Amino acid sequence: MELKYTRKNVYKEADGKELEKIYGFAEGYKKFLDNSKTERDAAVTAKKLAEEKGFKPFSFSEKLKAGDKRYFINRHKNVFLIKVGTEDVSKDGVRIMVAHVDSPRLDLKPNPMYEDSGLCYLKTHYYGGIKKYQWTAMPLALHGVVMLRGGERKEICVGEDENDPIFYITDILPHLGAEQSAKPLGKAIDGESLNAVIGGLPAVDDEEDKEAVKTAVLKLLNKKYGFTEVDLQCSELCFVPAGKARDVGFDAALISAYGHDDKVCAYPEMCALFDSDSTHTLLAVFADKEEVGSDGTTGMQSKVISDVIETIANSFGANPIEVRYNSKCISADVTAAYDPAFASAFEKRNTTFINCGAAVSKYTGARGKSSTNDADAEFMGWIRDIFEDNGVYWQTGELGAIDIGGGGTVAKFIANLGIDTVDVGVPVLSMHAPYELISKADVYSLYKACLAFCK
Ligand code: MN
Ligand code: MN
Repeated sequence: MELKYTRKNVYKEADGKELEKIYGFAEGYKKFLDNSKTERDAAVTAKKLAEEKGFKPFSFSEKLKAGDKRYFINRHKNVFLIKVGTEDVSKDGVRIMVAHVDSPRLDLKPNPMYEDSGLCYLKTHYYGGIKKYQWTAMPLALHGVVMLRGGERKEICVGEDENDPIFYITDILPHLGAEQSAKPLGKAIDGESLNAVIGGLPAVDDEEDKEAVKTAVLKLLNKKYGFTEVDLQCSELCFVPAGKARDVGFDAALISAYGHDDKVCAYPEMCALFDSDSTHTLLAVFADKEEVGSDGTTGMQSKVISDVIETIANSFGANPIEVRYNSKCISADVTAAYDPAFASAFEKRNTTFINCGAAVSKYTGARGKSSTNDADAEFMGWIRDIFEDNGVYWQTGELGAIDIGGGGTVAKFIANLGIDTVDVGVPVLSMHAPYELISKADVYSLYKACLAFCK
């Protein structure tokens, strides 16, 4: 019996075989990330992978039976994967794994396009919590969809292929930046100056045209996608950092990428659901809108998750209230990993560390544990037992020191449905930066945690 608790480093504990699995799992994850930068992209990727695994489209009016595998893509942005087990759902409930697939980025404004001083720009409105200064002077890609008059959808992705052009937001040169440098960091770049350069070549057929570059860009867009300026009012387009996930370090122990938060949790959940031979009924949910409060039809405050559980319950003549009450949920989201460069933001005994496994957060929130699910001791005990029984490396911690800040996850929205829920995720360095940093050991640990949860 060990009297004292010490956090374990997964890389130190792992033998050669386990290391191989850790590095192998990371390859699949990087591929998933590269194809899933936005929630829409993630939904397309998840649907494709589910179909490859034999999943069929879900319908609210169908009667499910044991062994059924279903996917439901809610409005292109919110994914439900269902694997129906053999246990009685009235007593056993549903094992639910939730993560979100939206990440902070720069959305386009409804009237985004203008020309100034010989360049054409798109105006943006930031989505989620960003440090605005991090988004200038770096390569950006444009992702999303434009609706044409009459209902035709045009999907757009420019800047990811190495032969594609990228887009660019300017910053002031240091030589002329004294005034900017004297400002607090949060005010150095104004939201209204996050305008991306999208063109510089004027149209030459009309000498009177005062916006010849904008005209030329619109002509190009019209030729390629068939849309005009007004169609942008019915679009969802956003700028995200261009480029792929990359290994970090001589030993490639870490991965830097855009959008680890929260694809680093969605991917292991999805793999666990695919790989598990559980007798329980399993449900994985990849939500949209977490970064802006989880509202709307595709966020976790929507009733859709209840409706899916109700459909499962009704299939077996079970009472949906009873099914919900007996369900269990892992709400998987990233946590702030201890960063020695910013030590004062953390309380070292109660924070999560990179390489130390799946991060369990009993509660999140801010200002005296406000606005959070707080998993009860009994459910924490149940989670601890299944992790320990299945050799899962896990740790626990809070999001930073008291009153430094804080943050929430979707856990409370599921818990509010009367479902036992706990946050389990992956520690991240530089969270919400254009490129975030995670450990391969931790994403693999979350995979093992999810497998144990499904079992
Ligand atoms: Mn998150
Ligand atoms: Mn986030």
